[in-house]
Amino acid sequence: METRWVTFDLDGTLADSPFARVVMPWLHDCLLQRGVASPRDALRQEHTRRLEAGDDVAAYHWDDIASAVLGAQGEFAPPAPPALPVPPTLPMPIVEAMRGELKSDIAAFPLYADVAPVLADLRERGFSLAVLSNGHVGYQRTLLELMGVIGSFDLILGPDNAGSAKPDVGMFAHGLLAGRIALHVGDLLTQDVQAARLAGIQAAWVARQLAPAAGQQDGNDVRDAGGTGGTGENTDSDWLHLAPCERPRMALASGWLDAQVTRELAALGRARTIGPLDEAADQVPDAIILQMDEILSLLP
Ligand SMILES: [Mg+2]
Repeated sequence: METRWVTFDLDGTLADSPFARVVMPWLHDCLLQRGVASPRDALRQEHTRRLEAGDDVAAYHWDDIASAVLGAQGEFAPPAPPALPVPPTLPMPIVEAMRGELKSDIAAFPLYADVAPVLADLRERGFSLAVLSNGHVGYQRTLLELMGVIGSFDLILGPDNAGSAKPDVGMFAHGLLAGRIALHVGDLLTQDVQAARLAGIQAAWVARQLAPAAGQQDGNDVRDAGGTGGTGENTDSDWLHLAPCERPRMALASGWLDAQVTRELAALGRARTIGPLDEAADQVPDAIILQMDEILSLLP
């Protein structure tokens, strides 16, 4: 029988990964100690510059971005004398230099509790599993090892071994995957869902923030920013009783999907050039899941 694949994004889908929580602050401190005035802005600007230049591989190569930021400030101004002596270059690769910090962070923020049982179930049913991430593979592989789940995946793709990043459809065209993906699962409408839909693949948006218990806790409920008409009377229980494939229509009518797209683009520092979503928009998922085991109903 032909291999069928289920593909997953990593950050926000399998786990709340450490990048924003510990890697960015660590890079910020490393660069600040070496005289860079506004490291976070400089890192973000260099990332955006590379994305806009169409270089998906370099845009997510954070070791190289940090080195470029450090190199660039050296061209314009001599580094301020640090309070404590630090080596002039950055400790690299990041993933090795930070291994201890990553390990502690993952101990505190492990794989989401609903993920491992579903991966085991899918493997038992004969699916091959892949991670399709915009993080480089060496870094993501280490995270998956520390999360104890590396053995569940047959393939890990990032910009460095795929040559492209989501929302480009390139990862879905990888030789092992092309034409064989039953489902892609991800937490970003403008990356995961958009890329999968463009590639003609069933896309599930994992929206844990919409689950009844989550919204009040994390202050990150897209429902706060939605509600632009439509079925504004929805309650949490509506979500619980709808099938995953029935939820996108309600989320679209409620303005929640539009709010999420705006939120995602703002987080990336981009202006919204996508118009109001309609049912045919690539950012509208085929299904919305509130917990991982709901993907099982979407598979043959
Ligand atoms: Mg993600």
